[in-house]
Amino acid sequence: MTTQSPDPMKITYTTSAADMEKIHGAFDKALEKVRSECGRDYPIYINGKELRSELPRIVDTSPIDTDLVLGEFTSASVEHVNQAIESAYQARLKWEKVGWQKRVAIMHEAADLVRRDKFEIAACMSLEVGKSRMESLGDAEEAADLIDYYAQQMENAHGYRQKMDKLTPIEDNTDLLRPFGVFVCIAPFNFPMALGCGMSSAALVAGNTLVFKPAQDTPWTGLRLYHIFREAGVPEDVLHFVSGRGSVIGDALWQHPKVGGVVFTGSKDVGNRIFNGFSAKWAKPCLMELGGKNACIVMDSADVDAAAEGVMKSAWGLQNQKCSACSRVYVHKKVAEEFTAKLIEKTREISIGDPTERDVYFGPVINPSAVAKYERAVEMAKKDGSILVGGKRMSDGAFAKGYYLEPTIVKAPLTSSVFREEFFVPILAIGEIDSLEQGIEESNKVEYGLTAGFFSKDKAEVEKFFDEIEVGVTYVNKRSGATTGAWPGAQPFTGWKASGASGKGGCGPYYVMQFMREQSRCVIEE
Ligand code: NAP
Repeated sequence: MTTQSPDPMKITYTTSAADMEKIHGAFDKALEKVRSECGRDYPIYINGKELRSELPRIVDTSPIDTDLVLGEFTSASVEHVNQAIESAYQARLKWEKVGWQKRVAIMHEAADLVRRDKFEIAACMSLEVGKSRMESLGDAEEAADLIDYYAQQMENAHGYRQKMDKLTPIEDNTDLLRPFGVFVCIAPFNFPMALGCGMSSAALVAGNTLVFKPAQDTPWTGLRLYHIFREAGVPEDVLHFVSGRGSVIGDALWQHPKVGGVVFTGSKDVGNRIFNGFSAKWAKPCLMELGGKNACIVMDSADVDAAAEGVMKSAWGLQNQKCSACSRVYVHKKVAEEFTAKLIEKTREISIGDPTERDVYFGPVINPSAVAKYERAVEMAKKDGSILVGGKRMSDGAFAKGYYLEPTIVKAPLTSSVFREEFFVPILAIGEIDSLEQGIEESNKVEYGLTAGFFSKDKAEVEKFFDEIEVGVTYVNKRSGATTGAWPGAQPFTGWKASGASGKGGCGPYYVMQFMREQSRCVIEE
């Protein structure tokens, strides 16, 4: 799979060789359609049946304008979760017996359906998450490519079944990877399509049945994913959709004894809770991709303009709410002044506003908790250092009804907590370093190990960075995004340390096999 495509309607997070006029036209049309569908009432789906509960519904409003109700979603109960897991458990052997070839075909069909609907999916995400058009389209495209890429892994491995050597002439030995049974997939709000799709398609193509829970901020996009899989041919008892509140059903999802595996993307705190609890009786697979506090090191030999551009894009894309977002920079003191001036200039140039609009780069954050986190982080920054740009909530005029925050650059001493804590809001800390050694040491001080960027023209420095930086995803001299831009089959996405669990991440060649367990079969033929 490559990042470049001849499809003039395709974009990724870092390529835009597409026909932009056509793309914007299609997005506008899709936006009009999904807006006309706002405010409906939605059920959960267990065994294909529409169900509702007595619990307070999830009123899904847009962070762009909180008066806009996108939909009202059923809040699943613990009983619903138990029912979904029981059904998924009953269906597990049948889904495995369907065979990998059929499952692969269904997944490729699902990828085609995502491509068919990508403008509506993107419009929906833009309204629900506050993503810009390009980010939303990238998310939808990535979702389709992820499904194909994981299905391809199954094909390349011929279903992970192979004949083995004989120890005696009368035996027949086979080794195969088989599904764990029921997987639970729990998704975060920020990439509701790509991450939901990636995690669930890998589990399904591997032969597991699935209970899917989207974040409570993004059930609208999550439900589209459910319908796409069902339309592609995933049977009703194999896939179940439970929108709901993590505080109500979260624990029930992974505590059920019939759950064979969990795939989770989200915060470190929730992830650790699941990981530690899930294996309380015996070790079970818990695949997790967690938070980050992603650093970029800028050396004195760097192309300073490229570094400032790359940091600006990675810091302000999706309002710093990407797990890979750049949230701290260590810049060599010889170029610190020039770099900071350019970064400030580029930050002031970004267009802030309603992210469904054509030229807007920077929209709102997801919810009031994010606003509160920003306000706390700004106070911390003021105490420890100085705010160079931003620092305020925007609430005038068009911003009045949304969660809009100014992109904020902070200069602080390297000991400040603004360099350690994941805020997941638009705050970027800058600190000065004397050497590469110091930059790497500071970068590695945090508990996280997700992505890191590096700008230098010195090959020896680049090698040292690769060897010593403690993260799973690295980028060197990337003007289009200093720490961001993973893509299936091109740049895998693995969290080290507190940013992940298995050491093998999404978008990479080792992903699907993690959803399976080995069985060795020996038959004596006399
Ligand atoms: P979050 O608060 O951890 O929520 C993630 C999911 O967990 C949501 O569906 C949430 O449901 C659910 N949940 C809450 N409590 C639970 C429990 N006790 N048991 C099971 N599930 C529970 O994360 P978020 O705010 O959605 O996403 C932001 C975080 O995700 C950041 O830390 C970011 O770095 C990380 N992230 C990492 C990656 C990566 O690939 N490494 C990618 C994207 C995001 P509710 O929404 O209903 O609470």
